[in-house]
Amino acid sequence: MNPTKQRLLDRIDADRDQLIEYLREFIRRPSPNPPGDTLASAAHVRSLLDAHGADYRIIAPNDVMPNIVASFDCAIPGRHLALNGHIDVFPAGDGTGWTRDPWGAELIDGQIYGRGACDMKSGTTASIFSFLYLRELREELCGRLTLSVVSDEETFGPWGARYLFEHHPEIIGDCCLNGEPTGREIYRFGEKGPLWLRFTVNTHGAHGAYVHRSKSATSIAAKVIGELEALQDLDPPADDNITSALDGISDIVDRAWGEGAAHNVRRITVNPGLVSGGVKVNMVAAQCSFEVDIRLPNGFDVGDIHARVEEICGRFPEVACEQILYNPPNWSPPDSEMSGYVRANAKALSGIEPVPAVSLGCTDARLWRYRDVPAVVFGPSPIEMGGVDECVAVDEFLDMVRVHVCSAYDYLSREATA
Ligand SMILES: [Zn+2]
Repeated sequence: MNPTKQRLLDRIDADRDQLIEYLREFIRRPSPNPPGDTLASAAHVRSLLDAHGADYRIIAPNDVMPNIVASFDCAIPGRHLALNGHIDVFPAGDGTGWTRDPWGAELIDGQIYGRGACDMKSGTTASIFSFLYLRELREELCGRLTLSVVSDEETFGPWGARYLFEHHPEIIGDCCLNGEPTGREIYRFGEKGPLWLRFTVNTHGAHGAYVHRSKSATSIAAKVIGELEALQDLDPPADDNITSALDGISDIVDRAWGEGAAHNVRRITVNPGLVSGGVKVNMVAAQCSFEVDIRLPNGFDVGDIHARVEEICGRFPEVACEQILYNPPNWSPPDSEMSGYVRANAKALSGIEPVPAVSLGCTDARLWRYRDVPAVVFGPSPIEMGGVDECVAVDEFLDMVRVHVCSAYDYLSREATA
């Protein structure tokens, strides 16, 4: 082990209690999005940067959703590494179904419970501490390190990383490391692309006994949803350049993300997440609207999917369809330099060498990949994310901090090559 890296690891061990307490306090400051007010959580980030005397900028196109950006230059020329995480978390409703306080950050049997524990206040904590530890070594490192902690990720919203990419491209750098949940056995080099569609169905409507008088908007919606679900049977493209990286890891993906996940990585999935129609049980519904979340694996052409959806709608003249959102599927080379550091450090520190996979969900890392900047995601287990009793294992969290610190260190230890 390189002596500087060993010093960093010793430092993390010495700071163990501080790291855990930092994460717990981060969780205790609610930042559900929607509605998206992250001020209390952001103040927690700011106070740590302040305590270390680190300069940062607040970039807040939305007053209650500040983004925090901090950078430093190292003494030796080199590449620019970006660390990125988000502050906002999924809502926790009124806590129904939780057996722990969603904002209590209780530490029980080695697990910290609370909304954001795994998605992604533990990952963001890893990024912040990586930034601060390496900042102290800036006289012996190469290049530049930028930390961006954003407030609008959960809704793919416009006020977070998307805003920074448009207005502050200086945060992008040459490579991105992100701590969104993956599980110890996996790092992500790509992700599927969400295509969200809104359908509206309008008919004349009638008395519920007079079904001969009008087609039913709700029945038509059910038929269209059934036909859309057939998109899931389309064969994935067999010859794209990521197939080989995904071959042979099904067992690991299923173990990390739940049985069936590996199957879904390579195929289209269709989820009619929202359906609303009709007024009364004894009326033929005149109106129904529904929204469908289609996830495209790498290699599918969205134009082809739109054509198939139009074909389906063409059989139902009462149906209109509009696109709400589309983020194309994206990927970096599965064997990028940062991938190598994450694999090697994870293996050296925990004994588990993570394998490259494409994620089912969507993260801000896509924005780097759209710019052809390699982005690697490595974080805690995603199994509990977004659900009740979301939690992170303390050991997994600390291992992730170690892997992030060491991988960022490795990247910034290499001088620029001509
Ligand atoms: Zn997340």
